[in-house]
Amino acid sequence: MQRLAIEIAEDVGDEIPVFIGILNGSFMVVSDFVKKYPNPCEVTFIKLASYEGVKSTEDIQRLIGLTQDLTGRTVIILEDIIDTGNTLHEVHRIFKNENVKSLKIATLFHKPEAYKKDFKLHYVGIEIPNKFIVGYGLDYDGLGRNLPEVYQIKETQHMTNLVLFGPPGAGKGTQANFLKEKYNLVHISTGDVFRFNIKNETALGMLAKSYMDKGELVPDQVTIDMLNAEVEKNTDANGFIFDGFPRTNAQADALDKLMDSKDSQINAMIALEVDDEILVQRLLERGKTSGRADDADESIIRNRITEYYSKTAILKDYYSAQNKYFGVNGVGSIEDITVRLSAVIDGL
Ligand code: AMP
Repeated sequence: MQRLAIEIAEDVGDEIPVFIGILNGSFMVVSDFVKKYPNPCEVTFIKLASYEGVKSTEDIQRLIGLTQDLTGRTVIILEDIIDTGNTLHEVHRIFKNENVKSLKIATLFHKPEAYKKDFKLHYVGIEIPNKFIVGYGLDYDGLGRNLPEVYQIKETQHMTNLVLFGPPGAGKGTQANFLKEKYNLVHISTGDVFRFNIKNETALGMLAKSYMDKGELVPDQVTIDMLNAEVEKNTDANGFIFDGFPRTNAQADALDKLMDSKDSQINAMIALEVDDEILVQRLLERGKTSGRADDADESIIRNRITEYYSKTAILKDYYSAQNKYFGVNGVGSIEDITVRLSAVIDGL
């Protein structure tokens, strides 16, 4: 603000400028600005209001409050924020008929990404990203102008993010394939991503393979980095089904942070509950056709189940504490289980 005031004062020189604040948003900016302005100046406010009762597709505006003759004066418009530039358009239209000496535009905030006009902005305080801000005179639905600081509004995205949970062989992958179609979600299976990397002999694949072959978990940081990258590939998603992730507390924390950075959250952990002996039988059966080394050997299968109980099952508590845990019987026909899972999702 100080910088803006000095910059303008240097340009204006000996003249006495008229600062015009555009209400309502600019009242705090103007108040602070003129206190920093080092030379004599005049201050006034105007407001733009839409005409009432005019049937037109174009938003016709009327200027309220300009009572002063500005002929021959140096006029500096003080705006709190310029985003699309629509208000500016009106200001220029209206000032065309005033015979001012010069008309300059100063704004505290400017959103270059949103700006659609080509009027010159003579003085800009700071450029900000195209996010909705509130406070320091700026409102959201009329509220928030009194906040002394500026805040960014959190956009609550209506994403549905599910953690599909359960021991190896519970049927997470099978069910995820139905649910992703039904709810238009992106399915991320960390196991599948690792296997894809192994097939393509990437460095990540080679690293993961040594753990997977023994039925152990891949180290957290490797898995978390990979998952973050997968989520970032799908910026337009309606939501995600996380299958096989998180498997540790550190992964659950990382997932919460990731969702938070997207102004979103995990809505539910839905767990498929299946007895261990059924799991072992299912995995051995799958191993006959899946080509997965970790499905072919009973001791590796049992080790995966042990890893599940020692490291992963505690996540039930993590999500239960947030009232987000939903257990579903994972024994029955594929269709029946899909129906049970859908009932949980529809109730969210
Ligand atoms: P899955 O396909 O989910 O049964 O995973 C197969 C193997 O991939 C696991 O036994 C682990 O070695 C590895 N893996 C998959 N997801 C994770 C994860 N979230 N954390 C650590 N390792 C994982």
